[in-house]
Amino acid sequence: MNLTTTQHFFQSATLKLTLTYLSIIMLMSITFSVVFYNTSSRQLGRQIPRSFTTSGGFGIRVDGGIIGGQRQEVEQFFQQRVDEGRHELLMRLFFLNLLALAGGSLLSYALARESLRPIEETMEAQNRFVSDASHELRTPLTALQTTNEVALRKPKLNIKEAKALLAKNVEETEKLKNLTDGLLGLLKNSNSFSPQTISLQDIVSEAMGQIVQKAQARQITVNDEVADTKVLGNKTSLVQVVAILLDNSIKYSHENGKILLTSSTKNKFAYLNVKDEGIGIKDEDLPHIFERFYRTDMSRSKITQEGYGLGLSIAHKIIEQHHGEISVESKLDKGTTFTVKLVLAD
Ligand code: ADP
Repeated sequence: MNLTTTQHFFQSATLKLTLTYLSIIMLMSITFSVVFYNTSSRQLGRQIPRSFTTSGGFGIRVDGGIIGGQRQEVEQFFQQRVDEGRHELLMRLFFLNLLALAGGSLLSYALARESLRPIEETMEAQNRFVSDASHELRTPLTALQTTNEVALRKPKLNIKEAKALLAKNVEETEKLKNLTDGLLGLLKNSNSFSPQTISLQDIVSEAMGQIVQKAQARQITVNDEVADTKVLGNKTSLVQVVAILLDNSIKYSHENGKILLTSSTKNKFAYLNVKDEGIGIKDEDLPHIFERFYRTDMSRSKITQEGYGLGLSIAHKIIEQHHGEISVESKLDKGTTFTVKLVLAD
């Protein structure tokens, strides 16, 4: 569903919900008016003295002097007053209902907007996600298409060129796989995990195992000084977070760089620091790096083009689900430190 379709859908949903709420309000108001009118009208009828309302009252003396033939006039007088009363009541109830209609319309509209807002926001976020994801998927797909088309246009393709083409295809497919894995990671909801007591050291060791080759390939030293602190969480997810931070530190470090992992505790929390001496992040980029698909200009051009700007948003989401925090401090050309705050196990 594109944006205008979504807007159109919500406009018509708001209208329908407003009408539903308004019908309920008006049904209640009209029912109340009918009951009130009937009760009050009966009450008014009882105001006519009994001697006039019962048959065979001819000749009964009323109010010290009215007798016989004048009875009809007096009866008419009372009846007229009762009818006037009823008419006035009817008019008042009519205006009351008009007021209910006007006020009810505004109230119903406000209620409808309020009820639909969370759904609208979720749908907008989903639309944005799909549109961002499609945009990102297009880049490797286009590269794949172009290389294949260029190769096909050649009248003859020798084995060396064919192998190079296949290698390029595998490379682009690998990128696509990483991207779809990242997208799935963002969609995964690990809210349902039951927190376990895990050692911070174990989490770090497992994450190190995943990046060791990459670090060696760039001659980057990773020093692990993490204490055997026990935290609450889901091991697989937390290993993923540390692996993302380490992977970034390697990607954005200079060759022969150094990465240091340390930990500390304060009150009921454990803190894990991943510090590198890499390219750093500009101040203006810092507030955005946890946003989905956000990549700084530096990461796009200088050191590596690898990545889709999904890693930190996945890490942020996981840490949020752990009721923890993830923060960053960075100095351009000096290095970056990411700190993960986690709940200590008792
Ligand atoms: P990417 O796949 O681009 O690395 P991330 O979401 O992991 O996506 O990171 C978002 C951006 O934050 C990166 O593109 C990079 O510009 C910046 N960044 C993340 N970690 C570091 C780091 N350790 N040093 C410098 N820049 C970093």
